Formats: sequence, C-alpha cells, structure tokens
Amino acid sequence: MSQYEAVIGLEVHAELQTRSKMFCGCAVVDSTSAPPSTYVCPVCLGMPGVLPVLNHRAVELGLRVGLALNCEIPPFNRFARKSYFYPDLPKGYQISQYDYPLAVRGWLEIDLPDGSSKRVRIRRVHLEEDTGKLTHVDDHSLIDFNRAGVPLLEIVSEADIRSAEEAEAYARKLRAILRYLGVNSGDMSKGVLRVEPNISVRPRGEEAFRTRTEIKNLNSIRSLARATAYEIERQVALYESGGQVQQATMGWDEARQVTVVQRVKESADDYRYFPEPDLPPLEISRAWVKEVRAALPELPSAKRDRLMQQMGLSRYDASVLVAEKAVADYFEATVQAGGDPKQVANYILGDLFRRMKDEGRPREQIGDIPLKPVMLAELLALVAEGTINHGVAKKLLGTLYAEGGDPRRLVEERGLAQVRDEEALGQAVAQVLDEHPEEVARFLAGEEKLAQFLMGMVMRALRGKADAQAVRRLLQAQLEARRKA
Ligand code: ADP
Ligand code: MG
Ligand code: ZN
Repeated sequence: MSQYEAVIGLEVHAELQTRSKMFCGCAVVDSTSAPPSTYVCPVCLGMPGVLPVLNHRAVELGLRVGLALNCEIPPFNRFARKSYFYPDLPKGYQISQYDYPLAVRGWLEIDLPDGSSKRVRIRRVHLEEDTGKLTHVDDHSLIDFNRAGVPLLEIVSEADIRSAEEAEAYARKLRAILRYLGVNSGDMSKGVLRVEPNISVRPRGEEAFRTRTEIKNLNSIRSLARATAYEIERQVALYESGGQVQQATMGWDEARQVTVVQRVKESADDYRYFPEPDLPPLEISRAWVKEVRAALPELPSAKRDRLMQQMGLSRYDASVLVAEKAVADYFEATVQAGGDPKQVANYILGDLFRRMKDEGRPREQIGDIPLKPVMLAELLALVAEGTINHGVAKKLLGTLYAEGGDPRRLVEERGLAQVRDEEALGQAVAQVLDEHPEEVARFLAGEEKLAQFLMGMVMRALRGKADAQAVRRLLQAQLEARRKA
C-alpha cells in the first residue's frame, strides 16, 4: 500500500420515508415483506398516457438532507429523463435530476477512529425514483414493482475519501444523519440505503485521478469497509505488477470476501438525458428553505459538541452516545431525570451496551429495554446518596435490565442497603481480625498486601453491602490498635 493512496467518492441512494410514491398515490411499502407488485398503478407501471404528479413531501425530505449536509439549495430545479432499457424500469426511462439538482456544494464532517475529524465535500443531492426489484433465480428473473417509483435521494460526494476507514466513517455519519432526520431507516440489508464506493488508487504525490471501479450490492457498512479495503489492495497489486486497472462495475462476493467484475465499461453510458416534459420546473422558495432549516433537529455533530461542552463528556464518549439517536435520547432522558452525566455515560457505554450485545439487541433498540431512563437515574441516585454502593448497583442493574422495577423498592425488599452503622461495621472488622490471626500477624510484620485480603473478608462478611470507605478506615484503625497492643 505504502507509496499508493486511495481516492474514493461515494454515491449513496436513500429511499425517502414518504407515505406515497414519488409521482403517484401508491403506498410505499416494505419491499421485503409485501406481496410482489401489489402496490402499483398505471403511473408507476409506466402505462402510456398517464402523467406524473410530484410528491412535495419527498422534496421536503430531500431538502432536509441537503440542508443537513450544508448544501446550497438552488432556487430552480428541474427533472430529467434518464433513458436506459432494463426490465426493472417499466417506462424505459427513470425520472431523475440532471443539470438542476436539489442541492449542491455541501460537506459532511466525518469522525475517524483516532478521534480526529475531516470534511468530505458533497457534490450534489438529487431526487429520482427507485426502480422495481429484480430477483434472479436459476435461468430466469422475477420482478417486483412495489419499489418502482418510490422516492429516492442520491447523495454524491467528491472523491475526498482516502481510505476504507474514511469510507466507513462517511457511511456511518451519513446514515446517522438520515436517521436523525427521520427520512430513512438506514437499513442497508433491506436495500433502503445503498452505498456505492467509486475507488481508484494513485502513487502518492500524483495529482490526477486514475481509473476507478465502482462497487455495488453492499448490504452493510461492514461489507462496505471490507470491500473497499479489498479493492484498494487489488488495484495497488495490479499497478505494482505492471498491470492496469480497468474501469468496471464490481460486485462484492460476501461468501468469498472478494470483489468481482459485474460489467466492464467500454464507453460512457449514454443516458440521453433531457428535460422531463411531463413535469413543470420546480421552484424552491427561500421561505420554504428557511422553514425546513428551522425545523431541522439537532444533528449528531452538534449534539456531540453540546454533550462535551455542557456535560463535560469526553469526545469519544459523546461520539458513541450520539451515533445512534435512540441512545442519545436515552442518555439525555436519564440526565433529565437527575442522573450525573458522566456516570450515566459510563453505565450506558459499559454495562448496558454489554448486556445489549450479549442479548444480540441493536443499540437503536435501547428505548425498548425494561430498564427505563428514570430507573437508571434512580439507581444512580441511590449510589450517590450512599444507600447502595456501585457493586450492588451493578447487580441490581441485571434485574432492572431484565424486568424493570422500582430501584428503591428493590433495595428495601432485598435488604441491599449499605451497612453504615459504625458499630456494626466495627464488629464485623473485629470478628474478621479475630478469625485470621495469622494474616494479621503477617500484616503487622510488614506484608502490607494482606490489608486487601482482610478488606475482602470483611466485605464478604457484610455480603458486599458495606460502605467500602468506612470499612477501609475502620480496618486500618483496628490494625493500628493491634500493632500497638
Ligand atoms: P458517474 O456519473 O459516472 O457515476 P461521477 O463523475 O458522477 O460518475 O462520479 C461518481 C462518484 O465517483 C463521485 O463520488 C466522484 O467523486 C467519484 N469519482 C469520480 N472519479 C473518481 C476516481 N477517479 N476515483 C475515485 N472516485 C471517483
Ligand atoms: Mg456512478
Ligand atoms: Zn403507482
């Protein structure tokens, strides 16, 4: 890899979560579960003589994305026909945008694993309609038109990305933003979000871009990272062995973990774009842009900065919390209920995430676990006021995680409150010292690490419920007393 660097630009297709399709009244349905070709009409089936009517909600959702990606929104938009002949496209052309897209010249800030961040420029964001879905079986293909005409947003970056890690960070951040905006579920396995990297490599220092390949059919961000890393290495190896990269559309073979050529581009595609005659130009008023901008939710980067500044969280902790909106919401609700931000973050990023992982529950479902934010806040309050220690709190967390409940009542019912009564603690310490004369003697002879052993014995005698600081203090005092005796 050394003297070569990767040059990557991403094309992302995101279905927009509207109720109806882009140019007709058909419902947008989950294409993995609805019976095939049941949500169709003459418009989305491309029958002759029908006219498309633009779905304004789709434009609004597209505007949200354009603004969230810091784009300029040109006042004049127009749709274009992109001609190509393929069975998933009933009209023989796709209505898209070409010379007058919805949004242009933006940027996305990506967060890299080493804690740094970088801006990737966004070239354009435009609206189009999705195609039907083909399924290839043995010697024939099946087509489902439910997806034909579903509003689709294409987001094209500049080729500013320099590694597979950056490509992954870009996809993660963009996916998070789409989810924050409520425009797309981000479910790559269902194909509602499709990320296609264009990849080339060049010797470091060389300015011009070299020939690229494009990878399609990636069904997860992990596949995107792996396929990109693989393709970079493949191209570098080609150049190093004196070969050339051929411009091609590649696929990712998930089973073999390799990229495979799907089709070699011999010449540029000729889509014969021309203005769509059946749709009027679309003017986007400044008032509308202002309205959409004002209604944008707080986005991940801004939320991360606020958690760092207002709540004193580290950049890393804040980044992990905001990566999934549901997690950020859970965190903020717990703090709202009185939890100390740093402790809440520790519990979520540690115990809660570990339990969710063991259970195979994705982080976005944190809102569904029985342990609700108010319960977590209450649990932490019990620790803060000294009623229980962290050890007990973590055990209780298991119960609350599995079935919820009132932490304070659970502490009472199970007799988990800390023993803070000095006399009781003192007795427990004295008893342990009496029962371990040999260890006490060795401690007094200079084996200091035995203090830890004796401490553990006292905590065990008190079934872990003691205020550890008080025990340590009493233990030291009694050991000193025995030294003098
Ligand atoms: P097309 O319209 O053929 O898909 P574009 O020129 O619009 O191609 O580019 C699509 C994406 O590919 C963009 O993200 C762009 O930055 C990226 N790209 C273009 N040329 C290269 C290259 N040589 N290497 C890597 N990425 C590239
Ligand atoms: Mg392309
Ligand atoms: Zn329809």
